[in-house]
Amino acid sequence: MNEKQLYRMRATASGREAIAHAEPGSRYVDRETGEEMEPVAKVLPLAPSVSSLPRSPENLRSCRRCDQLIGLDVSDCPYCGLRQEAL
Ligand SMILES: [Zn+2]
Repeated sequence: MNEKQLYRMRATASGREAIAHAEPGSRYVDRETGEEMEPVAKVLPLAPSVSSLPRSPENLRSCRRCDQLIGLDVSDCPYCGLRQEAL
């Protein structure tokens, strides 16, 4: 069984981005806007020690400085060290 990968998706028209489970070459339509989105980058696995949350779109956010995806429960960006705001 092939597990779906997390991808960073982008709508070509608006530039809106989202994180979603997708397969290469598959089409993805944004639930909110109905725009078609394309996978632009695979989301790489987080270091296991960084976040205790399962790696899913709801549990990720992107760092304001380096734009890497990090877990919601992580207080400092593991990539650039930027302190993350409390949710
Ligand atoms: Zn960062």
